[in-house]
Amino acid sequence: MGRSRIVIVGAGFAGYQAARTLARTARKHADVVLLNPTDYFLYLPLLPQVAAGILEPRRVTVSLTGTLPHTRLVLGEAGGVDLDARRVHYTDPEGRAGELGYDALILSVGSVSRLLPIPGVAEHARGFRGLPEALFLRDHIVQQMELAAYTEDEQERRARSTFVVVGAGYTGTEVAAHGKLLADAMVRRTRREGGQCVDPRWMLLDVAPRVLPELDERLSRTADRVLRARGVDVRTELSVKEATSDGVVLQNGESVPTRSLIWCVGVRPDPLVSEVGLPTERGRLVVDPCLNVPDHPEVFACGDAAAVPDVTQPGQFTAMTAQHAWRQGKTVARNVAAHLGLAEARPYEHHDRGFAVDLGGIQGAANPFHLPISGPLAGVVTRGYHLWSMPANRVRVAADWLLEALQRRQAVQVGVVRAGAVPLDTASPELVRASSH
Ligand SMILES: Cc1cc2nc3c(=O)[nH]c(=O)nc-3n(C[C@H](O)[C@H](O)[C@H](O)COP(=O)(O)OP(=O)(O)OC[C@H]3O[C@@H](n4cnc5c(N)ncnc54)[C@H](O)[C@@H]3O)c2cc1C
Repeated sequence: MGRSRIVIVGAGFAGYQAARTLARTARKHADVVLLNPTDYFLYLPLLPQVAAGILEPRRVTVSLTGTLPHTRLVLGEAGGVDLDARRVHYTDPEGRAGELGYDALILSVGSVSRLLPIPGVAEHARGFRGLPEALFLRDHIVQQMELAAYTEDEQERRARSTFVVVGAGYTGTEVAAHGKLLADAMVRRTRREGGQCVDPRWMLLDVAPRVLPELDERLSRTADRVLRARGVDVRTELSVKEATSDGVVLQNGESVPTRSLIWCVGVRPDPLVSEVGLPTERGRLVVDPCLNVPDHPEVFACGDAAAVPDVTQPGQFTAMTAQHAWRQGKTVARNVAAHLGLAEARPYEHHDRGFAVDLGGIQGAANPFHLPISGPLAGVVTRGYHLWSMPANRVRVAADWLLEALQRRQAVQVGVVRAGAVPLDTASPELVRASSH
């Protein structure tokens, strides 16, 4: 028998871990090919720290070729899968079409920003999903605060110093928490230089009755308290009704002049999921507890892209979190090996071990093993957890944290990502309708 070929589409938490595990367990019998648009795995949970200028962008990237021996990386974006011919069609970074045949396929393409059908949002809001968005936001905050300091127009100064974050899940909460600290640091700099400034206003909105609505209520209370003490204007059960180039109108009719609308309302599965023509559940690919797509024994899916039954809570699906995606990567690797006759298949089972939210400075909110903690202890636990979880760059990340503690933040506009390069994902009308329900 010849060697089998396992193709993994998407090198995020799930795909990276699947490749890593397969390269160890199945490399004698199979070639592992990883298809991904970038040559790195992005450690998303630390992205708010990139936007805040604490971490250099490369710190949150993990080289795929440098850390995944025995895996062939193909740079490209899958556009479709021919399930009968067992081939993945993709486009490489130079726009050339290519295809990859497979004996086993893992779809781990993750998710993209979720758009809601609110007038002006697609044009004027920025998402927060990848490195370009984080770099754009970092520059944008610095730029707005600098423009606010130079203008003679008091109204313009207020608008430029106002930042509206929509969505108080962990992404929006962390972005607002860190963003406020960066803007405050810029105000201190302006005052030292004798410039004009107003206290920056950060608003965090959510239609839910509390921040971090998907997490333990005790974490919500901690985050709410820290954010308010920092001066973030937290508004629950409220969202944006309309966005324009110079402000937003809230659902209660209030107008907020701003040049900054940051969209963190959640995610939906990557568009490839709807392209492959397999059954979906709430937009995610239907899989069995062994992460296998029904009627296609050679096709597997995991992470945000898959509706994985949560065997610890019958009737539920696992949440779209890194914690699940990472562990599902391991399980899918084992079950693909089982499909090739190299192991025994096992269902995915993971009991939630709590969550950690970094609130910037020395603050955090965490509940490791469901023990709620707050303040500096939670900050230390959160950062310790990230260092432990990252597959590489630990020393570099720790060094940036040390520099942050010892020195003033370096706030300059690098200008490498322009607004046009980070459009908020424009979903198809059907998907927009589906996700808004
Ligand atoms: C800012 C932010 C902060 C977060 N913080 C936390 C946190 O603190 N804790 C937590 O548990 N979760 C957190 N999450 C959620 C967590 O990151 C996701 O649940 C997790 O990344 C899902 O892993 P995944 O492997 O399914 O997808 P991803 O990690 O998103 O990876 C998907 C990969 O597939 C690639 N891809 C997409 N489409 C294609 C295609 N067509 N062809 C080829 N490749 C493709 C992408 O480029 C990417 O590399 C955060 C998310 C964000 C955006």
